Amino acid sequence: MSGSRGRRLLLVHAHPDDETITTGGTIARYLAEGAEVTVLTCTLGEAGEVMIPAPRLLVADEADQLGGYRYGELRGALAALSPAGGAELRPRFLGGMGRWRDSGMAGTPAAHHPRAFASQDHRGREPGGPVAALAGVIAEVRPHVVITYDTVGGYGHPDHIAAHQVTMAAVAAAADPGYAVAADLGEVWHVPKVYWTVSGEGQITDAVLRLRDDEYELPPGWRAPELGVLPVHSDDEVTTLIDVSGVSAEKIAALRAHETQLQVAPSGTEFALTNGIAQPILTEEAYILVAGEPGELDDRGLERDLFAGLQ
Ligand SMILES: [Zn+2]
Repeated sequence: MSGSRGRRLLLVHAHPDDETITTGGTIARYLAEGAEVTVLTCTLGEAGEVMIPAPRLLVADEADQLGGYRYGELRGALAALSPAGGAELRPRFLGGMGRWRDSGMAGTPAAHHPRAFASQDHRGREPGGPVAALAGVIAEVRPHVVITYDTVGGYGHPDHIAAHQVTMAAVAAAADPGYAVAADLGEVWHVPKVYWTVSGEGQITDAVLRLRDDEYELPPGWRAPELGVLPVHSDDEVTTLIDVSGVSAEKIAALRAHETQLQVAPSGTEFALTNGIAQPILTEEAYILVAGEPGELDDRGLERDLFAGLQ
């Protein structure tokens, strides 16, 4: 299991819970294999809803204390993804904890807050802005692999789109010799491979058909998604599938740590957000390689390791 030692993975996520929902298995697997993993979260998720009774009044419209609470959930999730007996992965936040704020769903007043992440400059390199902050992290961590969302942020949330834009701009900035000098980054770092976390059409269609089967029992109050509702990329766009079946228990425990945001079915095979729509907990996490060269491919033409092809 020493294959990933010395290998560094940086994941950029918008809110606490996104790291586990989209990439939790990948985090747990590479931690178990000895890779250095950095999970960088851009906001504290202050604008989220709350699914359980006790912390319900922490939401933004009431006590506005949800961000600190979700820090605790994120910490619990990363601990659950960390190998038993090993070092516990701790959260990191872009610009420091609380620097930028959850912008809420598109069209909500949360976007007008002066610290709303989605309202910042996502491409400019001005000092103190999110691109400069992330370029600084890249220069420090020197990741071999960076993971972010696709151009629509997976499902269109303004903070997810912003995380995508900031990440792509910061990867370019960190590799720019002129910027590295101007921003005092030290040496230039050219990230060898950049991936977008996505869902493949085939894996989601199979899962949704299973959930929609009349015989399939979902927890009370949950419903199966309609076919075509969950965001996907076509299977020929997916370049890389990571088998996370060996860390399912860790991923499920990490999902359960985000208890204000989601519920996990007793079976451990689905979860649901506040909308009550069941979503599969996938045992393969899908990616699109958008920068860098693919490594070894399987007989379906897919990479099976994010670090494939790197020395
Ligand atoms: Zn999110």
